[in-house]
Amino acid sequence: MDISEWEQQHNDTYFEMKDDLKKVRGVFVAYNCNIDAIRHIDENDINKLLELVDEKKVKSRLMEYPRQIDSPEDFVARLIISMRDGKAAEVPTYTLDIHEWLSENLGSDVSRMGGQAGIISNLLANMEIKNIIAYVPWLAKEQAEYFVDKENMLHPVIVDGKLELVHPKNAYSSDNEPKVNWIIEFSKDIDFEFSGEKIRVPRDNRLIVSSRPPWIRIDMDQEIYEHLQEVYRGIDGAILAGYQMIKETDEDGNTYDHYVEKSVKLIKKLKEVNPSIRIHVEFTSIQNRLIRRVILKQIVQEHVHSLGLDTVEVANALNVLGYEELAYAVIKKDERAIDALYEGSVILLHELKLERVHVHSLGYYICVISKNSPATPEDHKKSLLFSSTVAAARALVGDISKLDDCDAGLDVPVWEQGYNKFETLESHLIQRGIGTLKDLEDGCVCTPTHDVIIIPTKVVEKPAATVGIGDTISAAAFVSMLSRIQKNNLAKVRV
Ligand code: ADP
Repeated sequence: MDISEWEQQHNDTYFEMKDDLKKVRGVFVAYNCNIDAIRHIDENDINKLLELVDEKKVKSRLMEYPRQIDSPEDFVARLIISMRDGKAAEVPTYTLDIHEWLSENLGSDVSRMGGQAGIISNLLANMEIKNIIAYVPWLAKEQAEYFVDKENMLHPVIVDGKLELVHPKNAYSSDNEPKVNWIIEFSKDIDFEFSGEKIRVPRDNRLIVSSRPPWIRIDMDQEIYEHLQEVYRGIDGAILAGYQMIKETDEDGNTYDHYVEKSVKLIKKLKEVNPSIRIHVEFTSIQNRLIRRVILKQIVQEHVHSLGLDTVEVANALNVLGYEELAYAVIKKDERAIDALYEGSVILLHELKLERVHVHSLGYYICVISKNSPATPEDHKKSLLFSSTVAAARALVGDISKLDDCDAGLDVPVWEQGYNKFETLESHLIQRGIGTLKDLEDGCVCTPTHDVIIIPTKVVEKPAATVGIGDTISAAAFVSMLSRIQKNNLAKVRV
């Protein structure tokens, strides 16, 4: 199938899939959500920051390379390093002091919803899915205001011993404080001087100060947990993210087992609420290898149906599961990389006993499906095509505020470079006898142990925004798969 036929397939499936979204009764989304405070800094700003801190201290912290930010000097040292090298960095801070210092001394240009669960909740509510039931363990007043103001945007609360679903604005606890991540952006060619050294920023980039206050816990309020079966509106799927917040040992001395057990209990409870529910975990990069492995082996394995991740995350997952060589082949930028990515996805599917592994990369998606998936390979393919259009719309317009905004993605062409990679994988798979040219051209290979869907995707040349596109791809594909499962069930009932 040539590139124009892929273009046509995107167009042919889009309106059908868009319409089918109405069949989804509800989606539960937890846990991580924060406020992103974004500030673009110029020469004046950096000079002002330098005046506010002790130069000698910054100099010594610069040499030590702070791995976490405990003081304004740590912050300025990491900012200088990022600006000097033009490198993106994300550094944690464990107190609220830095947030206060930055609010007072720098301020933000704009603030927006951040965190995978926060971004996905708003996206799905804007895509007009019937009931988006978000759950954020640390929901604060200020945070609640970042949820879209729509009737389908809900959060559970307990009123008079009963579970109710209300807008997050009416569900927060005044004891909670917002988790604010600071995103400091800087442009190429900014000049400044620090301690006699002249620095010029080599490229546009950003430093993220991610807030990790001690009260961030992957947990559910006990009362809400106990009443969860009262969710009367129906939940067809759950999207869970934020497990990277689990610590080896927290401030109260609880080890990770405590939170793993609670996370698994919640998944089991969701399955009690609806035995045919489908559970998706959105993966992310997790520095701590022990926690990364624990999440995969103790939360995802056997409990979860679907996993969404990018190529680097596939390599990271393979690495802690004992496939170091394959992990290396995935990230090495040569011809074999895409082949290794396919192999790695198959390993994740089988080793973690999943129904579906959806890998997104720039220009193509690979989805590996188990034989017991309640959706057909054709359903999965249509869901991927739909998500490619939705992601293109998000990249093009920056945000999706209503379902019709997704139509904009139809104008974005399938990316030639992605299509070329897709062809490379195609020839590898044919050479190895995994699929015939016909299967691959149709975009769906059925092997005795699993099915594989590979599609080339739409890419926006000059995106208006890049944050959250990965989350958009995974969430859009997962909910449209849910709609197909609902459609198949309804058809069965009619027969
Ligand atoms: P994030 O967590 O910021 O969403 P990820 O790495 O998880 O980042 O996902 C980024 C994904 O977004 C890529 O795999 C690619 O498929 C998609 N993407 C990135 N840029 C564009 C673009 N300009 N147009 C369409 N899709 C894009």
